[in-house]
Amino acid sequence: MSDPLLDVKNLKKYFPLRSSFLRRVTGQIQAVDGISFSLRRGETLGLVGESGCGKSTAGRTVLRLIPPTGGTVFFRGQDLLALKGDALRSARKSFQMIFQDPYASLNPRMTVGQIISEPSIIHGSIRGRALEEKTAALLEDVGLQADAAKKYPFEFSGGQRQRVSIARALALSPELIVADEPVSALDVSVQAQVLNLMKELRFRHNLTYLFISHDLSVVHHISDRVAVMYLGRIVELAEKQDLFSRPLHPYTEALLSAAPIPDVGKRGRRILLSGDVPSPLDPPSGCSFHPRCPKVMNICPKQVPELSDTGNGHMAACHLC
Ligand code: SF4
Repeated sequence: MSDPLLDVKNLKKYFPLRSSFLRRVTGQIQAVDGISFSLRRGETLGLVGESGCGKSTAGRTVLRLIPPTGGTVFFRGQDLLALKGDALRSARKSFQMIFQDPYASLNPRMTVGQIISEPSIIHGSIRGRALEEKTAALLEDVGLQADAAKKYPFEFSGGQRQRVSIARALALSPELIVADEPVSALDVSVQAQVLNLMKELRFRHNLTYLFISHDLSVVHHISDRVAVMYLGRIVELAEKQDLFSRPLHPYTEALLSAAPIPDVGKRGRRILLSGDVPSPLDPPSGCSFHPRCPKVMNICPKQVPELSDTGNGHMAACHLC
């Protein structure tokens, strides 16, 4: 098998919690607590979990938008966390992020043409007539008219704005796109259009996606493999069909039992989890899911289960496996 495009090992991101008096560090919010995964070229890995599980922080940390607390990120075989200056600037052209809110992520004072051409201007790749033509081509590529370049973001619908965000992300011909809840701010009727566009663009532009979402049906629609996060850790990772038809981790089972996805395995009764997601400031000992797990055993509060391969690349972090 060829080398992965992205290889993440034991990545951690802790945020210090400070007292209001003297700003002393009084604790650590363990937003991402040692996650490992790799991305093959051309695939889409869905990263799914409840709100607050650390998936967005993981995406931002992978791309160095925020500095990690520990771990390694190798992109095209290069240690991304060790890059500085021009080398980092050059590497940044190869990965881009699409954010959740197309209303907040586009500068309302810039025209759509300026927004899409800005990355090329910053990186000095092309200018003038060539840049105008490239901008028009990118707009058409995402299903908008070339004359949209003259308009401002407020003149577009939510779905159209997200298309503009996608065109901007494509401006520097990236290899990797981290999409953080890219359709969750859109109407349900528009979500499928944007997801289908992202699927088409993946083939047209040889893209690799890390697709972050809380919505299992969205992840099911677009992903090749799926990683499930709970309280800062990946608890299960597998090929999509494998994970949806044969979930191994009790948390994944509970999520799937509540997801309205037709034609996915056999639906049993809905599994209701008791209690809320614990605070990442003080996660439970051992398996952090144990206070809510319907299958908890004596060992579970005592020992952290490692994410290990149960066969055919189906990974799970549970003492039952
Ligand atoms: Fe449940 Fe124990 Fe597995 Fe954690 S390790 S998911 S508590 S059975």
